Amino acid sequence: MSTIKTVAFIGLGNMGGPMAANMAGAGFEVTAFDLSEDALELAKANGCATAQSVAEAVGGKDAVITMLPAGKHVRSVYGGPDGVFASARAGALFCDCSTIDVQSARDVATDAEKMGYAMVDSPVSGGVAAASAGTLAFMVGGTDAAFDAAQSVLDPMAKAVLHAGESGAGQAVKICNNMLLGISMIGTAEAFVLAKKLGLDTQRFFDISSKASGQNWSMTSYCPEPGPVPASPANNDYKPGFSAAMMLKDLRLAQDAAQSSGTSTPLGAEAQALYAMFDSLGGGSTDFSGIIQMLNGDWTGKS
Ligand code: NAD
Repeated sequence: MSTIKTVAFIGLGNMGGPMAANMAGAGFEVTAFDLSEDALELAKANGCATAQSVAEAVGGKDAVITMLPAGKHVRSVYGGPDGVFASARAGALFCDCSTIDVQSARDVATDAEKMGYAMVDSPVSGGVAAASAGTLAFMVGGTDAAFDAAQSVLDPMAKAVLHAGESGAGQAVKICNNMLLGISMIGTAEAFVLAKKLGLDTQRFFDISSKASGQNWSMTSYCPEPGPVPASPANNDYKPGFSAAMMLKDLRLAQDAAQSSGTSTPLGAEAQALYAMFDSLGGGSTDFSGIIQMLNGDWTGKS
């Protein structure tokens, strides 16, 4: 694959906006498209050219990056009548960075390959702060050749670009990881709530458990109880970060995948039920660590 210089970037939301800006900052010629005029204005201010349609953004470009909400958006942006497949030049590379269901990722990549295009699914871990800082972790599914080509495109937005396996493997890693994260956050929150009820000092419990076998990322990097980890959203009124609604979306994707693969994941199912309850009580736009407020009885309907 020849050197990639021109990139179409589609989906300029909380994540895609800063990612496109980093691509432009790294010297790629970026043409951006989103349904939102405000997002287009921001992209222009950040050094991108803008287009009025997917077709206009994609035509003649070396690579296409998409950062869209869900599988149905990815299917229609790629496969629709004026979509990526209908507009891309021969030999273009496609990187879908959205978090979507494994089947949609595989179907769209299969269609791309049938038409002679290389495509990777490359969902990210890291959230809006990492998208702005260019320090996302990309989990990439696709052939060795597609991964090699994608690496140079994803690098300006990344602290790590990791090959997970064939098409769909990036999405599979992402949803398994986030299922574990949702479970570990709830478990960590329950432990802090119980510790307090038993009269323990929060900091002292943290100091001991974080050096004992209860230690985990949700505790030491993102503690749901205010105090022990100054940078965690718990110390900033649970502003996201990574919203509870996004966590619920990923837990639903994990349960869909568990069901379709005949896998028993009872804690994943319970985590989904608890985040669905938090969402229905108005917690969706709160950081996902804010679920501790529902578990300790402090939730009042707003963070
Ligand atoms: P967002 O809702 O802020 O942005 C999505 C953008 O896509 C919007 O600007 C929307 O207008 C645009 N869009 C939708 N349909 C379109 C179409 N047909 N053509 C062009 N643009 C279209 O969402 P986000 O927070 O940026 O998340 C994007 C993806 O990244 C999601 O799949 C999400 O799960 C994943 N993700 C988000 C985070 C996070 O912390 N926000 C972290 C990791 C992964």
